[in-house]
Amino acid sequence: MKHAKTPSDILENNNITSYSSFSACADDECFDTMDSTENRIVEQLSGAVTTLLEGLGEDPYREGLVKTPERVAKSLRFLTKGYRQNPEELLRKAVFTESYDEMVLVKDIELFSMCEHHMLPFFGKAHVAYIPDGKIVGLSKIARVVEVYARRLQVQERLTQQIRDAIVDVLNPKGVGVVIEAKHMCMVMRGVEKQNSTTTTSAMSGEFLSSESTRSEFLRLIHNRS
Ligand SMILES: [Zn+2]
Repeated sequence: MKHAKTPSDILENNNITSYSSFSACADDECFDTMDSTENRIVEQLSGAVTTLLEGLGEDPYREGLVKTPERVAKSLRFLTKGYRQNPEELLRKAVFTESYDEMVLVKDIELFSMCEHHMLPFFGKAHVAYIPDGKIVGLSKIARVVEVYARRLQVQERLTQQIRDAIVDVLNPKGVGVVIEAKHMCMVMRGVEKQNSTTTTSAMSGEFLSSESTRSEFLRLIHNRS
């Protein structure tokens, strides 16, 4: 049974010292369906968001904001779920032996991440290519690896390298190339740079580094918009 939370409920629920009694979720229904550890984490984060709202001069208990701390907490847990996932394990599940040895390119992989300096979104596209050396991986898994690393607090440079390194570690291919083009809200919204500026990063290995023609083929294919 749902009931509107009163300010005193919220205060109690957000009281970090009350964890041991574990009274955040009064509904039996809620108890059954929510994992208790996750419940505790959401409760703790909600408390922090309440503090944040107060720090901004807001009244966290006014009607429009009453459920905001919990919403923000759950949203942040979703946006950082990549911490609880192992990208290499995910790749390993979909590796196949195959003699194909030309470049495999997955381009325009949508990505949404958050910069670790401002906790504001950055988003754009990732392009990932590799040249197999006896092993290939399911194409959708490449997009999943991008997602797992993106759903953590990131800097674009590290995100780019982590994607490359995961593919190198699992497939040991002849080479990997990763390019990410993204817009950073911490630049756009704060007026640090022109609103349409895009940041491009790249990370390469193997033949993408040693062969000029491989690298330029990769870059040409990425920008070949048809
Ligand atoms: Zn930032």
